[in-house]
Amino acid sequence: MKELIRKRILVTGGAGFLGSHLCERLVAQGHDVLCVDNFYTGTKRNVAHLLDNANFELMRHDVTFPLYVEIDEIYNLACPASPIHYQFDPVQTTKTSVHGAINMLGLAKRVKAKLLQASTSEVYGDARVHPQTEDYWGHVNPIGPRSCYDEGKRCAETLCTDYRRQHGLDVRIARIFNTYGPRMHPRDGRVVSNFVMQALGGEPLTVYGDGSQTRCFCYVDDLIDGMIRLMNAPADPGGPVNLGNPHEITMLDIAKRIVELTGSPSPVEFRPLPVDDPWHRKPAIERAERLLGWRPHTALDDGLRSTIDYFRRALAADELGDEFGMAADLAK
Ligand code: NAD
Ligand code: UDP
Ligand code: UDP
Repeated sequence: MKELIRKRILVTGGAGFLGSHLCERLVAQGHDVLCVDNFYTGTKRNVAHLLDNANFELMRHDVTFPLYVEIDEIYNLACPASPIHYQFDPVQTTKTSVHGAINMLGLAKRVKAKLLQASTSEVYGDARVHPQTEDYWGHVNPIGPRSCYDEGKRCAETLCTDYRRQHGLDVRIARIFNTYGPRMHPRDGRVVSNFVMQALGGEPLTVYGDGSQTRCFCYVDDLIDGMIRLMNAPADPGGPVNLGNPHEITMLDIAKRIVELTGSPSPVEFRPLPVDDPWHRKPAIERAERLLGWRPHTALDDGLRSTIDYFRRALAADELGDEFGMAADLAK
């Protein structure tokens, strides 16, 4: 049997949607996990089931401030990720991306830790290349409502790359495409959580524009597997790696799938398309396949079923309430 090398791993944004799944997986692998979060969009409830575990520690901290801890690896996920959350306080969003990255890179440099940066497909903006390959530089508005997030994440990629070049750091950049699953924020305004909550509440599903825009949705378990593989890849990939599911679907079609899978009587209602809403987005994942032997396995209907089950159970137990922190009321 392969012997476990037990590592001390820092996960920033660990009480959020992706971070909580990542902490869970790393704890299950036997690592010592330090979860750091300021609970801006995440919640203690997401990691409550890990608190009794001797391998898990939770710290309230804002990554825009320095952090002095001794660790072997850093997964830097801290950042609001949904448009309504990151646009609520755009200056703080850029600070979190940029100052947060500087602090985590400074920490990695001091303790010689490996760092994985959670970047995003938003660095491609309203892409003119389809599907998006890692060598495409993107088409991003620097002064629009999404810029605090897009440009913040682009700058974080620049910092990671310069710390690698200038200080010899081992840095891995994951360009994460739309991901969904249990523990998504119930009112984050993202399409899957919105449609599921609307369908379960018997309200109309709000399709923006004519619903012909496309996205590709990766189930959270597949994504986490990709992130851990990227961190553990023996050789530094030397550049960003796309992680996402290439199965493309229109917003109208995903609305119909969710209505069918929930058995909801909800109709579809059309609303204006938000400013700078990217038209198409699809990851080219050949790089991840080649370097990491990774590709997503969960079919959309299976992932949607488990997401719907999560929201249904949480609603029944009245668990989607106030503890969703200061961002909870934004979408009301
Ligand atoms: P999330 O909002 O659920 O998680 C982000 C976490 O970071 C939250 O727990 C929040 O409280 C915390 N946080 C925010 N600002 C912080 C700060 N200054 N200091 C400490 N903690 C802070 O979002 P998520 O979907 O889990 O996203 C996690 C990461 O993955 C983000 O960096 C996001 O940009 C990236 N990402 C996610 C997706 C996706 O589809 N979910 C796609 C692309 C990229
Ligand atoms: N830093 C940190 N923890 C550490 C080391 C550094 O939070 O263990 C932060 C600190 O705020 C510093 C930043 O990381 O300003 C960048 O560190 P670096 O060593 O690259 O540059 P410095 O600003 O110290 O010259
Ligand atoms: N969207 C929609 N109805 C909603 C929420 C989102 O039609 O209630 C659309 C949105 O305009 C976008 C797509 O769904 O075209 C994905 O939006 P999301 O905010 O989930 O992610 P992102 O735009 O960051 O890919």
